[in-house]
Amino acid sequence: MSESQDRSTEQLPAVVELPSADLPKSDLIMGIDLGTTFSCVAIVEDDFPKVIPSRKGLRTTPSIVALDEKSRLLVGEDARKQLLINPTNTIYGAKRFIGRHFYSDEVSTLAKYFSYEIVPIGEMEVGAKIGGAIYSLPQVSAMVLNELRRNVCDYLKKNVWQAVISVPAYYSENQREAVREAGRIAGIEVVRIINEPTAAALAYGMNKSFEKRILVYDLGGGTFDASVMELYGDVFKVLATGGDTFLGGVDFDERIVEYILSEYERTQNDILQCDSVITQRLKDAAERAKIELSAKSVATIDLPYITISKGKFKDFRCEITREQLNDLTGEFVDRTIEVCMEVLDAAGMQPDSVDSVLLVGGQTRMPLVTDKVSRFFAKQPTKGVHPDEVVACGAALMGHSLGSQRSVRLIDVLPMSIGGRQPSGAFKVLFPANSTLPAEREIGVATVHPGQDAIEVFLYQGESPRAIDNEFLGAFVVTGFPKAPAGQVRLAVTLSLNQESILDVSARSLSTSLPMHVQMVARAPVSAESAGLEPIGPPPPDAPAPQEPGSDQAKRKERLFSGLRGFIRRIKS
Ligand code: AMP
Repeated sequence: MSESQDRSTEQLPAVVELPSADLPKSDLIMGIDLGTTFSCVAIVEDDFPKVIPSRKGLRTTPSIVALDEKSRLLVGEDARKQLLINPTNTIYGAKRFIGRHFYSDEVSTLAKYFSYEIVPIGEMEVGAKIGGAIYSLPQVSAMVLNELRRNVCDYLKKNVWQAVISVPAYYSENQREAVREAGRIAGIEVVRIINEPTAAALAYGMNKSFEKRILVYDLGGGTFDASVMELYGDVFKVLATGGDTFLGGVDFDERIVEYILSEYERTQNDILQCDSVITQRLKDAAERAKIELSAKSVATIDLPYITISKGKFKDFRCEITREQLNDLTGEFVDRTIEVCMEVLDAAGMQPDSVDSVLLVGGQTRMPLVTDKVSRFFAKQPTKGVHPDEVVACGAALMGHSLGSQRSVRLIDVLPMSIGGRQPSGAFKVLFPANSTLPAEREIGVATVHPGQDAIEVFLYQGESPRAIDNEFLGAFVVTGFPKAPAGQVRLAVTLSLNQESILDVSARSLSTSLPMHVQMVARAPVSAESAGLEPIGPPPPDAPAPQEPGSDQAKRKERLFSGLRGFIRRIKS
């Protein structure tokens, strides 16, 4: 990683070309699965979801952006073609970085695995540097979104500008907001962010009048999610969700790369020296062998001209069996089963009380995954769901439902706890993981110094008892009360999370009931003293009833939403 780049998102290069103004506008809402390795777009035609192929006739588009030797931006299949020969100028895996803080442990761990340069933008945003230009991750994703939108516009000969975009259920609030920003950059109105497992469940169960409890097991290129859901009629209710944003197909590939290197060393009595091109070739060969082993018991890894020895090009070839692959990667599959156990436990269920298991994501094609999942749940996973397309189809069905009279009802949960920092540095959970959304919580805060005229609350998301070990979401400052001796100003702060977990904060004086002024701030908590947080009354036993979208109360709330998510970007702009 290089030194801090003093640039804000607004100064970054423009990256998308919007559809021609001559195209008639369409009210259709497309469904987009913005994947780690591939993305997919679908629309609903005659009540059925339909995947829209790319201009190259492919049903998925690589989530890859590159600069070629003439400094032209390439997106999708064209960008993927140059990954092997020009990896340092090719951005892939953006989904793993998007919405993360540059100075987080996650980003420094991840950066080592990518051939392109990861640089900071402004105070904490992650940027990717290729060919001397810096792109923010939302910009990179915007280019992929734009490519998918173009496919839809070309197909319909209309300008489609609204989308439901899916994200891993285990994405934090910051990551979700970054995906919204990608939509904004691409000129797409993101009408809804939907969790990938929820989208998969919609594609599986919509209009089928099921009454069952399902587990969606989603193992993609970079992330794993498991969600237990209850389906009844048009209601899709998430009971619990969990996951690991550091577990996916690329980890399996990495193990095969290590195997190839050790085989090289064993058979050639030498160490293979790797530059970025060789590393990328090894990753590519590893992935191809892995995919081959889903259908065959042995795969040959062929690496012609992989190195130069005594002035001559040297080839390398080795074999890997399915059994070896299972030994190398079995622990990853075991980890997914552990997450399933945790999720079932959170829902108060046993493996045998799950009626159906849906497999989503390309990595679930590995036979070991199917074997272990079948054994754990004592049933075969459901057939007939296309692992690469089901999420986009579900997102399209959601979009269709939003635009029609008879809409489905999605009841989701919060993937990770949200809470505030106590003066001691402890993390006070306000909304526990798996709280049903929408949710509301009232807390009491008080001044700690004489004459204090503002109270600041820092919010985090995660499960660590220490606030700073969790992800910083944002802060709000409450003002508007008279100065008084320490502890004499006592306020009630109401935090409400809506269906998409966008936060609204209001405050009132406990003594006068007068409303206080609440402002979101973009500053990370360096030395400021945070207010002590005490619950007022027990947490609500269940979430308040969702408001009808068109009701006056809902409209008023919509206007009042200032939302912590994305507050940093909004304040900047
Ligand atoms: P997704 O994010 O759902 O597109 O999943 C992509 C991941 O699935 C990548 O790591 C691929 O290598 C992996 N994958 C795709 N097809 C197969 C297959 N037949 N067997 C094993 N893994 C696969």
